[in-house]
Amino acid sequence: MNISLEFFPPASSDFNALLSEYKKLEHLDPSFVSITYGAGGGAENKSLEFIKVLKENNLDIAAHITLVNKSIDDLEKIVSDFAKLGVKKFVALRGDSPEGKFKQHPNGFFNTSDFVEFLNNKNFEVIVSAYPEPHPDSKGFDFDLQLLKNKSESGAKKAITQFCFSKDDYEKLIETVLKENIEVEVIPGIMPIYNIENITRMAEKCGTKVPPNIINKFGDDDISNQKYAIEICNDQLDYLSELGCQKFHFYTLNRSYLINKIFRERSLL
Ligand code: FAD
Repeated sequence: MNISLEFFPPASSDFNALLSEYKKLEHLDPSFVSITYGAGGGAENKSLEFIKVLKENNLDIAAHITLVNKSIDDLEKIVSDFAKLGVKKFVALRGDSPEGKFKQHPNGFFNTSDFVEFLNNKNFEVIVSAYPEPHPDSKGFDFDLQLLKNKSESGAKKAITQFCFSKDDYEKLIETVLKENIEVEVIPGIMPIYNIENITRMAEKCGTKVPPNIINKFGDDDISNQKYAIEICNDQLDYLSELGCQKFHFYTLNRSYLINKIFRERSLL
């Protein structure tokens, strides 16, 4: 199975714990490791520091960059700083304004597709986001599909999805992308459930539904919770493979434990 892994930079500059979590997943031979940028507030320059350490360990890195609150000159500098470390892949994102609704920087981009074009013109590989369920700012499925099409036509060949627990929503996105000849490979973003309350909170912010039949499975028993988390991921990997997906992006939450358990179980099937 072709997988990629996402980590977020730790708040401190001690990257050893995180590096050791990565090492526990290395045997899965991830095609790349993506590092978030300022997600959850702050820590923007931590991405650069963290990527420097990962590059010293020879990893293929996809650096996330959000265009929000940045002029084109700012983006020029950030991209060049990453490129100096040997980064050749970017996850190009709009991002969120701290005050809520997205506001364009007076000298910045409005559309993510313009940022994709900017990166593509510099010959970087560009990955973008896709949303099986509507993004909180969404004006509807067709409008969002047009945005994905614009990003693809500007040079993005891959799109990692927001995490999603609905097979129907995945199916609709994947089939429509194919039907509309949008030349982007949809890579599902898989979120292992370490803590159902945290996932539900996160999901609310990003417009993802956590169905009651998932929420109700989780209780006070850690062993049963782990078993359900693994079952849910395995079920997703099975139906997404049936829908034709060949690559999967894991939101690691900086932990290796559940992902290793999932793959151990799959190897025994
Ligand atoms: P886009 O795909 O460009 O658009 C998202 C939504 O915004 C659209 O559905 C639409 O509703 C609205 N929109 C966009 N353009 C227009 C327009 N022209 N007119 C009207 N409405 C419009 N955030 C971080 O801060 N750091 C990260 O590292 C990070 N990594 C992420 C990785 C993935 C795989 C995903 C799915 C999300 C990530 N995010 C990250 C969150 C992301 O920044 C937010 O979801 C943000 O609100 C949207 O950014 P986007 O690039 O997905 O936007």
